[in-house]
Amino acid sequence: AVSIDDLSKRFSNETVLQDISLDIETGEFCVIMGPSGSGKSTFLRCIAGLIEHQSGSIAFDGTPAETIPVEERELGYVFQEFEDALFPHKTVGENVIFGLEQQDTEYSESEIDERIDEMLDLLAISHTRDDVPTELSGGQQQRVELARQLVRECDVMLLDDPLADLDYKLQKRMELEIRQLHQEMSSTFLYVTHNQDQALKLADKLVILNHGRIEQIGTPEEIYHNPASAFVGQFVGDSN
Ligand code: ATP
Repeated sequence: AVSIDDLSKRFSNETVLQDISLDIETGEFCVIMGPSGSGKSTFLRCIAGLIEHQSGSIAFDGTPAETIPVEERELGYVFQEFEDALFPHKTVGENVIFGLEQQDTEYSESEIDERIDEMLDLLAISHTRDDVPTELSGGQQQRVELARQLVRECDVMLLDDPLADLDYKLQKRMELEIRQLHQEMSSTFLYVTHNQDQALKLADKLVILNHGRIEQIGTPEEIYHNPASAFVGQFVGDSN
């Protein structure tokens, strides 16, 4: 489980996150949705420990995040600057294998090979396995990064709009794949999107952010049918 209590974050004099409290159960699919600039990426970065917050606390299974050394955190993340994350001189297959090599696995070489194949197939990029990332489109590179992180099956997966660069049809297909994968894994997902459709489809728990504050937390049904504010109604409802 991930527990966030009263988290606030400022950049110089701009408050980007204010009094964020949120509990995410183990295995839950939690979607964070909000307009551009509402603080979604900053929130994920705080949880990942990539940036420091000013006040409040983050705990993983009851252990304060700051007491867990970064390399011991069971975290996988896909951020929007995924291009920098991939090794440009390694093939797609090697890039994904690197995700597994980072941790102690009990898999044999052939099992690893099979898992990589499965993951690439699921994300519809099998045919790129021997290519290097620069030969791929942005959307394909994004899926390589997604594959590399998902294959690690970390306790907590932080995904920042991982399908943003895909066309509509592929987005729909990947939504289904991600939901299926989540069901097969025991990982907790924190998934940022500003795509209402994706949020409603994927979320067990939906969090609506606005100007760095939580407007509402609930199931997609609750939020869709009983928006807590005019903002939520407009942002999630039929008028969107
Ligand atoms: P988007 O959907 O466009 O990605 P977001 O909801 O993820 O937006 P953030 O990227 O978290 O929003 O940004 C929230 C606010 O924090 C913005 O006003 C942004 O300018 C500011 N911000 C983010 N990162 C930094 C930084 N490193 N230094 C200063 N300000 C920052």
